[in-house]
Amino acid sequence: MLKAVLFDLDNTLLDWSGFIRETWETSEAKRLRRVMDYFHGEGATQTDEATFLVEYQQRTHLAWQQAFVNLHAPNVGRVLVEAAAAAGVPSRLLNPRRCLEAYDWGAVDGTVIFPEVPEVLTILNEAGIRIGIVTNAYQPMWMRDIEIDAFGLLDFFPTCRISAADVGYLKPHPEIFRAALECVGARPEETVFVGDDLEADIAGSQAAGMHAVLRTAARQGNPNTGATPDGVIQSLHDLLLLLDTWFAGWRGETA
Ligand SMILES: [Mg+2]
Repeated sequence: MLKAVLFDLDNTLLDWSGFIRETWETSEAKRLRRVMDYFHGEGATQTDEATFLVEYQQRTHLAWQQAFVNLHAPNVGRVLVEAAAAAGVPSRLLNPRRCLEAYDWGAVDGTVIFPEVPEVLTILNEAGIRIGIVTNAYQPMWMRDIEIDAFGLLDFFPTCRISAADVGYLKPHPEIFRAALECVGARPEETVFVGDDLEADIAGSQAAGMHAVLRTAARQGNPNTGATPDGVIQSLHDLLLLLDTWFAGWRGETA
């Protein structure tokens, strides 16, 4: 019986094909400027700004390099605080939450939700299927929630939204899938995972015992892992047809 469907966020629900790197770099510079302004406003006028920016970039790069080896999830709040400490910011200001509030994250320019997402989530909801988000984000979930809310999706996911930055492990580590199953209260065999990354999403969810569906996207991650998805879809509409094949009667009275 089908109980839950878990979705990756980026390039599964959220379409990044319109993302422009130059715009990102400008926005990121503004966010870091706001963090610096926060330190200055709190009296940390001796902060070495150049050191802060270099430390932030280097520590971000290093955190992701290590993450690809050990699957320990990077966390932008932790990196900001470590960079600030290295730049001489006093310890009383080294609070990740306060730094991230100053950073003031929001929906990324050029990103949109795939057009069929609200309709498909509504159909799953009306059939009583529990749905969740499991993302390998650098940001704690409360930050990604700002985007999800901006795109009108937050109400679809009242309880189960999981970021690697909070769990501490990246997909395909088993711990983040265990946390997701606990959150939706389903067994792996009752759960379908939908994602665009063959290693993180497909190999990871299959190892956790779930049905794994690959959403093909413009920017396909890790094509050479050798993982074979249980199903391949180009639109979430196709997911509903796969569910019909695997879990006859899942739509309940509307079937
Ligand atoms: Mg993705």
